[in-house]
Amino acid sequence: MTPIDLRSDTVTRPTDAMRAAMAAAPVGDDQYGEDPSTNRLQQRCAELLGKEAALWLPSGTMANQVALRVLTRPGDEVISSRECHAAWHETGGAAANAGVQIVEVGEGGLFTAAQFEAAIKPRGLPVFPPTTLVEIENTHNRGGGLVFPQAEAEAICALARARGIASFLDGARLWNAAAASGRSEAELAAPFDLVAVAFSKGLGAPGGSLLAGPREVIVAADRQRRMLGGAMRQNGIFAAAALHALDHHRDRLAQDHANARALAEAIAPCAAVEIDLATVQTNIVIWRLAPGAMDAATLVARAREQGVLLAAFAARTVRAVTHLDVSAAQTAQAAAVLRRLLG
Ligand SMILES: *Cc1c(COP(=O)(O)O)cnc(C)c1O
Repeated sequence: MTPIDLRSDTVTRPTDAMRAAMAAAPVGDDQYGEDPSTNRLQQRCAELLGKEAALWLPSGTMANQVALRVLTRPGDEVISSRECHAAWHETGGAAANAGVQIVEVGEGGLFTAAQFEAAIKPRGLPVFPPTTLVEIENTHNRGGGLVFPQAEAEAICALARARGIASFLDGARLWNAAAASGRSEAELAAPFDLVAVAFSKGLGAPGGSLLAGPREVIVAADRQRRMLGGAMRQNGIFAAAALHALDHHRDRLAQDHANARALAEAIAPCAAVEIDLATVQTNIVIWRLAPGAMDAATLVARAREQGVLLAAFAARTVRAVTHLDVSAAQTAQAAAVLRRLLG
């Protein structure tokens, strides 16, 4: 039996229709700007995100690293949310590639303009690192797929602008934030100088992310992408997958959100489960294992024996993510397995 794979929304495989679109994609050498599919994708995403220009990148991690390199200088300080991807899941890249330190503020992936303001280092005193960038993650992965409140994002970015601080949106799952909030991607991206989105998460493409922002920032990002080894050649095969995903996989994200909600509600009553259902807003379900219950590694191993794959996020924290390759019926099956294991 094929397992029900809830480890991540990155495990999706391209559908037959996506593979057909990839096979038929017009391609050229993207380093000469001659890949028509990549050019089309960049143009379309710039419009979709309400920005002047856009640049395809091989991964969301590279998009974040490039963003840090174009918006900061070595020695600078970046303010972001607790457990943000850039600080937790990029193997120290922010320090190694951009030479910056990240200060985490707020709780559970969210923070307020007041918390941001309090964390800005005073200017004009040479002992302090200059705060030059604020980064918001929407939706927030380790926060459990939380949607960042838009009014707060607007207040944070307005304050940043007034203080001469750049703003960056890590929107790897911005598509999910749009589906959950009913706001367009352009509206969610509007307050920010630069935005990153991923095609390889909920949209189900085999790879690729993109940065969108002012033309001069995208030109600088292009150079940094090259420097990090991320400039590609016949990239249209990837771009075609992303274009197909934008056309066919965006409208169905609400189904993933409904599945995640159903899973969370099914396991919430279990004695071993500690979960805040208010955090289940999109396609991610994160819960803690109650004191005395099994630990995360044990649950992951036992669920695997029953054909359900989960991710251990910390010693006693588990994550399940719904996606394109998990139906409502499979979600219900997985929930039944977890209820048996978690009492
Ligand atoms: C997955 C993810 C990334 C990185 O994407 P990769 O393509 O896996 O490198 C960046 N930010 C967030 C919030 C993510 O969830």
